[in-house]
Amino acid sequence: MTDEKEILVIGAGLAGPLLSIFLARRDHHVTILERRPDMRKSEISAGRSINLALSERGIHALRQADVLEAVMAKAIPMKGRLMHAVDGTTTFHRYGQDDSEVIYSVSRARLNRLLMDAADATGKVDILFDEACTAVDLENGTVIHQNRSTGESTVTAAEHVFAADGSGSIIREEMEKHHEAEDSLERLPHGYKELTIPADGEGGFRLEPNALHIWPRGEYMLIALPNSNGTFTCTLFFPMEGDPSFASLNTAKKVRHFFEEVFPDAVPYLDNLESEFFENRTGPLGTVRCWPWHVADRFLLLGDAAHAVAPFFGQGMNAAFEDCTVLDSCLDDGGADWEELFALFSQKRKPDTDAIAEMALENYVEMRSDTAHPEFLLKKKIEFELERRFPDRFIPRYSMVAFHQIPYSECMRRGRIQAEILDELSAGISSTRDINWDNAELLILNSLDSLEGL
Ligand SMILES: Cc1cc2nc3c(=O)[nH]c(=O)nc-3n(C[C@H](O)[C@H](O)[C@H](O)COP(=O)(O)OP(=O)(O)OC[C@H]3O[C@@H](n4cnc5c(N)ncnc54)[C@H](O)[C@@H]3O)c2cc1C
Repeated sequence: MTDEKEILVIGAGLAGPLLSIFLARRDHHVTILERRPDMRKSEISAGRSINLALSERGIHALRQADVLEAVMAKAIPMKGRLMHAVDGTTTFHRYGQDDSEVIYSVSRARLNRLLMDAADATGKVDILFDEACTAVDLENGTVIHQNRSTGESTVTAAEHVFAADGSGSIIREEMEKHHEAEDSLERLPHGYKELTIPADGEGGFRLEPNALHIWPRGEYMLIALPNSNGTFTCTLFFPMEGDPSFASLNTAKKVRHFFEEVFPDAVPYLDNLESEFFENRTGPLGTVRCWPWHVADRFLLLGDAAHAVAPFFGQGMNAAFEDCTVLDSCLDDGGADWEELFALFSQKRKPDTDAIAEMALENYVEMRSDTAHPEFLLKKKIEFELERRFPDRFIPRYSMVAFHQIPYSECMRRGRIQAEILDELSAGISSTRDINWDNAELLILNSLDSLEGL
């Protein structure tokens, strides 16, 4: 599809500028409306988390858009999870088979700025900042937006509108009203708060930098990802209500007492614990499951607007980026009919984004609890051994999601079968030495088809 179009994208977060690069390459003219000021000119928060875990799907999309090299210049490889027990002992669990299978910690603000620069550089993308979309007319395809400095409202009609306006999408809200659908945002009872581990006096890291640190504590957890300036951003995932919860930790004394009891080896590094705990916002977490994703050939939801997921698999941004490459390939496959294109894209992506939403919730339980159990560790060892012995049939679920581009729905389907195989192989044994590999081979050949072509 190469006929030139006037396209509107709502949101210059992570997905909006990336999508615009792909559209601009096809000679379309794109205007992005972004309600925030230009973060390249003023010091503003990039919103949500300070850093993010980037993995294969996101890497592939950034490579396609020619921004990967710039992003990777400051990305920090994380080779595995470094688990911190309450007594201070630490254990390291590799993510993949070796150092070629790692995920990367990247700064959200830097990534967002690089994507905006790359969109600008196409010469076909205009980003209008401080422009908040305030209403849409789905029938006529018009968008009303208001300049946040002048208060002036404008009505814009575009041929096609892409809603990349995040989990609180105003376009999704309008579409739900239009279809008389229920609110599709399902809140988790847990929220998050970010805290900082500053660098040491020389600007160096005070904890192992090439790992994602986790303090798993059953019902909640603290994690830390490295930043390129020697700091770590910690995130406390914690109940909103109850005891303990964000609501119950309501004085500086309670916060310190709780952290000293539950995260004692983290406390010496959290130099500004109490002030950050009360100054930094408590963010909500949730999952968006909505349908349909498009209105005729006019509006299409993508990224978090269509399918926000909980952050426990580190896949929300990666999935939003994958949306852009999938849409780009639909543009290759399709004819001139954008309604068909939007329908094709939605049908392709929906099963996959539903699957990552579910796997992300399952991973929360794994990260905050199961990872400490010997049975869990044994299963991890068996998984890696099975992958080495039967690479064309068995890849651990985490690896399928993070290091491959196997569709998420297939990762989930195979993951369920693999979990049963692991249950059977690990029953009653304490070491991989005790495994009957002939039985393992039989189980795998009988229940897992070849990975070839996925
Ligand atoms: C705590 C936390 C940790 C996370 N960690 C990871 C991780 O490690 N790895 C990962 O892959 N994902 C992670 N995610 C998920 C990731 O942040 C999102 O999936 C990603 O930001 C989605 O990109 P998006 O462009 O769809 O939405 P956003 O990045 O939210 O961008 C939406 C943009 O739209 C703008 N906007 C909104 N409304 C309007 C309006 N009415 N008019 C104009 N503009 C508007 C916003 O200002 C924003 O710029 C995490 C999320 C959270 C909350």
